[in-house]
Amino acid sequence: MAQYYGVNELREMFLSFFENKGHLRLPSASLIPRNDKSLLLINSGMAPLKPYFTGQEIPPRTRVTTCQKCIRTGDIENVGKTARHGTFFEMLGNFSFGDYFKVEAISWAWEFLTEVVGLEPDRLYPSIYLDDEDAFKIWHEKIGIAPERIFRFGREDNFWEHGAGPCGPCSEIYYDRGEKYGCGKPTCTVGCDCDRYMEIWNVVFSQFNNDGENHYTELEHKNIDTGMGLERLAVVCQDVDSLFDVDTVKAIRDKVCEIAHVEYETDPKTDVSIRLITDHIRSVTFMAADGILPSNEGRGYVLRRLLRRAARHGRILGIQGRFLADLCLTVIEQSKDGYPELAEKKEYILKLLTTEEDNFNKTIDQGLGILDGMEAEMAKKGSKVLSGAEAFRLYDTYGFPLDLTREILEEKGYGIDEDGFKQAMNVQRETARKAREVTNYMGADVTIYQSIDAAVTSQFVGYDRLVHSSVISVMCTPDALVSELDAGTSGTIIVPETPFYGTMGGQTGDTGLIENDNGTFRVDETIHLQGGKIGHVGEMIDGCLKVGEKVTLKVDEKRRALTCRNHSATHLLQKALRTVLGTHVEQAGSLCDEDHLRFDFTHFSAMTPEEIAKVEAIVNEEIAAGLDVNTRVMSMEDAKKTGAMALFGEKYGDRVRVVNMGDFSIELCGGTHVKNTGSITAFKILSESGVAAGVRRIEALTSDGVFRYYENLEKQFNKAARAAKTEPSLLARRIEAMEEELKGLRSENDSLKNKLANAAMGDVTNQVVDVNGVKLLAVQIPNVDMNELRNLGDELKNKIGEGVIVLASEVSGKVNLIAMATDEAMKKGAHAGNLIRAVAGRVGGGGGGRPNMAQAGGKNPAGIPDALAAVRQALADELHA
Ligand code: ATP
Ligand code: MG
Repeated sequence: MAQYYGVNELREMFLSFFENKGHLRLPSASLIPRNDKSLLLINSGMAPLKPYFTGQEIPPRTRVTTCQKCIRTGDIENVGKTARHGTFFEMLGNFSFGDYFKVEAISWAWEFLTEVVGLEPDRLYPSIYLDDEDAFKIWHEKIGIAPERIFRFGREDNFWEHGAGPCGPCSEIYYDRGEKYGCGKPTCTVGCDCDRYMEIWNVVFSQFNNDGENHYTELEHKNIDTGMGLERLAVVCQDVDSLFDVDTVKAIRDKVCEIAHVEYETDPKTDVSIRLITDHIRSVTFMAADGILPSNEGRGYVLRRLLRRAARHGRILGIQGRFLADLCLTVIEQSKDGYPELAEKKEYILKLLTTEEDNFNKTIDQGLGILDGMEAEMAKKGSKVLSGAEAFRLYDTYGFPLDLTREILEEKGYGIDEDGFKQAMNVQRETARKAREVTNYMGADVTIYQSIDAAVTSQFVGYDRLVHSSVISVMCTPDALVSELDAGTSGTIIVPETPFYGTMGGQTGDTGLIENDNGTFRVDETIHLQGGKIGHVGEMIDGCLKVGEKVTLKVDEKRRALTCRNHSATHLLQKALRTVLGTHVEQAGSLCDEDHLRFDFTHFSAMTPEEIAKVEAIVNEEIAAGLDVNTRVMSMEDAKKTGAMALFGEKYGDRVRVVNMGDFSIELCGGTHVKNTGSITAFKILSESGVAAGVRRIEALTSDGVFRYYENLEKQFNKAARAAKTEPSLLARRIEAMEEELKGLRSENDSLKNKLANAAMGDVTNQVVDVNGVKLLAVQIPNVDMNELRNLGDELKNKIGEGVIVLASEVSGKVNLIAMATDEAMKKGAHAGNLIRAVAGRVGGGGGGRPNMAQAGGKNPAGIPDALAAVRQALADELHA
């Protein structure tokens, strides 16, 4: 048996083994793919390296090795059921970009497994693609594997391909874990779906290019891409049953058992829940650490779904209250060696998980309410089956897993239309799939920029210079590479050295001019293109420029200066937010241009006015303090030591730029800044609002923007004062006085109206009639609104003592109708609401109300006499009844 190695140990053994074979070790990329619409989440070591395979970007070295965090939601149904699948796992890989090929790739894989890790060669079986005789020869002749131990599989298993682009056969390495893991079928051998022969390593020989129509041409530079599941390797080395028994994962599993007070391996059903929580919390923790926030779509939905599934299975295990944050501490503890970001973002991750789990618990209660309603509907209709659409709505909107809905309904003897549910689910999946339709191997829209030679690069030289000379290396129009641009033509210019800042890190790129004696090009925006190129996009406004010509690049100074102030202010803002709200505040997005700044950050409730004021005050203090802004370029390691804030999932190179403002703020940042915070002059927060679950947004102004804001405010203020015929300083008092005056006028108006109405009504008490012993007064009064009718009604009630009053009035072609009944009248059966209902139709209206008082409106004044006449009979009917 092989020697025992821990997961963290194996990772290091692999990476240093390949380092010794000349590979450059790169850190794991973020789980969020960059510029790749074909993928929701990174699912292999190769995925983030695609531009190196296509030649669109030049790799830092032709041999690279990584340990990449991966998420495969496609495997979700397997999780907890097979021994070898997780939604989260780490993939070890070695890559050759046009460097070594099959011989080295196979030999080194073999060497690593048998000599470094010490696996028994007799337990290892390679597979190859049907007719890949090269691979066969290497396995057989060079490594010495007997032909009958080399398995040949078809396209499905052993040909790696993904739309147009590089593709090729692959060779997998399986490990025989022994009969006890087998399915027992006589056909059980390498390639069987059971857990005996476990695929641990896949070595892909990408040697062809598929043009998208299945025409294959041999690649000039052949590549190697390999992937080995770290946890699977550990299963084999540690000789344990499954992924859930390897050291780092087992620690999480144990914690689940501890929290739930259950024991592993006593009940198979419980075990599935334990494993599922163990796996999902790993995915959730790593996703959160990469800045993915729960939402109802895309990556955020994956996070939400996994988290809810874990929470749900926690409930199944009998866990009361929330537990996921607690559990994620173990994930962080176990994996922080390989992934320091977990420890760095700990507080943030905990807050996020806690909030989301609380939300889920609330949602569950809400969902239960909705389900109650659905049940009532079913009972009404006499149906015994919940429709698929409704079950899906519960699932989609309220995060109710189907099994939860099923369980609850079953108790009451109801079922679910599960086919209907699946259909609804498929429709959604299809929509999601279409939304990220693959355009090519890179999953990117194809643009003219991709035809530019990968060797062309540009360097930004504009941190402290705004005018610079360089030579045009590439020009293009939106659809072709060109050698010259004429006046009136739109296009893009690339030069080796530019003072123009390209939009990045939330800072909007520069505008300005590129010119020489022959022509002038107006730069409307500056952008980064793939492969380290900076594109100046705009239009030739005069003359003509040609590739190879020397030009002067001039940045619009005023605009750059304003943008710098806004950018520097976001650094002060971020620090102030962390000071006031806590260190769970992380930048979730930012934008600064010449006009304003926008800063999105993680925080789980709205800021109070006091918090906003405090943050604003701190930023203004640091502006007034006139802090020097220093930038230094250093190694990532040194930068971390300074405590500089880094961005979520940002891919930083070895050398990073650190920007500090006095001792107050220190961040990794490639943007342009003021030299001293004093030049920001002033800072003003305009708004604070929510943009997504857990993300708040602040919009703010600096310097000129603040002055413009107050100027504008002053103008409006003066205008208001003029309108109120007073001085600005007396405006508030003036408004109060006007309010006071208005109040007096209103009450005077009311009493005058009342007097008028009374006069118009005249004495109507002589129109009181007796209906079976109850006094009834039903009269029409000219031109009185509903309020006044009520007042009159009250007065008349007082006048007649006990009885029923019905009043109708026409105001501008509409009818107001009101009925009132005194206590005594109600005792005898009078009901104002029913009276109104009985007669309102005659004035073209409807209405009703309480027994003592009711009102209605109508559209037909001509019907008033008729309605009033009908009151008598209606009241008589009530009293009889
Ligand atoms: P399987 O058929 O077992 O699902 P696969 O063919 O999907 O594996 P690849 O896409 O070739 O696997 O990925 C390369 C390696 O990554 C595999 O050899 C395996 O070691 C590992 N791996 C793949 N999927 C998972 C998973 N869900 N959990 C853990 N490890 C995995
Ligand atoms: Mg698979």
